[in-house]
Amino acid sequence: MKKWKNNIRQVVPYVPGEQPEDRNVIKLNTNENPYPPAPGVMAAREQIGDLRLYPDPAAGQLVKAIADYKGLSEDQVFVGVGSDDVLAMSFMTFFNSDKPIFFPDITYSFYDVWADLFRISYERKALDDDFCIRPGDYYPENGGVIFPNPNAPTGILMDLSDIRDILEHNQDVIVIVDEAYIDFGGESAQELLTDFDNLLIVQTFSKSRSMAGVRIGYAMGAPEIIRALNDVKYSFNSYTLNQPSIVLGTVSLREEGYFKETLKKITDTREWFKKELARLNFSCPDSRANFVFVTHDRLPARDIFEAARAKNIYVRYFNKPRIDNYLRISIGTMDEMKAFVAFLEEYVNH
Ligand SMILES: *Cc1c(COP(=O)(O)O)cnc(C)c1O
Repeated sequence: MKKWKNNIRQVVPYVPGEQPEDRNVIKLNTNENPYPPAPGVMAAREQIGDLRLYPDPAAGQLVKAIADYKGLSEDQVFVGVGSDDVLAMSFMTFFNSDKPIFFPDITYSFYDVWADLFRISYERKALDDDFCIRPGDYYPENGGVIFPNPNAPTGILMDLSDIRDILEHNQDVIVIVDEAYIDFGGESAQELLTDFDNLLIVQTFSKSRSMAGVRIGYAMGAPEIIRALNDVKYSFNSYTLNQPSIVLGTVSLREEGYFKETLKKITDTREWFKKELARLNFSCPDSRANFVFVTHDRLPARDIFEAARAKNIYVRYFNKPRIDNYLRISIGTMDEMKAFVAFLEEYVNH
């Protein structure tokens, strides 16, 4: 018996009315309106399917597209309204132990929010002086583990051997790897799914697929944990993904050439930008994400942040322990980054 099973929230989910694929039925089972939406909506919705109807609650078309794309079976994929929704559902589903969950002290700032929301106790494990996760910190008994890879906001990628090590020491709890930025130059932990049925990998269409506005996130894991997630989701809101998102997400997965091309542009720009930063006496960890996390050897981050803002260049400043002299700068187009470098050049040398 796997001990992590004790901490799964057991629920009997709400069952929504059937949404048949066959359009030839007289469909009077879910109180939908028989008339079309307003004409303007109709014009825009050409590709999007029938907006009158509730979407497929399982988002089957999108789940299948993701499963095919990843070489998984459909019962290994869960989809949600952005990975924030997927992660929130995962906290609710898997982190129900009386022991604290573990995550890094410097990490995605939503984790402690969900933990507080769901009254999950947690311990933050300090990154080392180079901002790296120390796998040994995650060995003690806990109620679950979550970390992003690459980590945010540092951009630092952890080796799969270290993730394997964390998994080997945590077989009694669910371990979540948040791969929001993995497409920008990391190796996904997907291959570890064959060895670990307690691993959940979460990815998103928001960053690498340029679709933050469409709100699609997904999780990959063993069928048993995907089923547990779906049970909680159906007990909360059956129709999380809307019809346009389901269709647009499916289409995006067919455009591999464009996807690769955009990723290359961003990673090339990132590498160019890193060199420019070094030239201006900034240093940053080796980011494998679509942002860099930088500090200057002389000028305070907050001042740079405010000066950039005054010039209508917005970057992210976190007024938090250990990182309050850093800026997180997203990688824009080459032109945007050149404009930012021009600003920095002027600011640093004035
Ligand atoms: C952006 C981000 C997410 C959430 O993105 P969604 O738009 O909700 O998919 C999750 N985790 C990390 C680490 C992120 O940076």
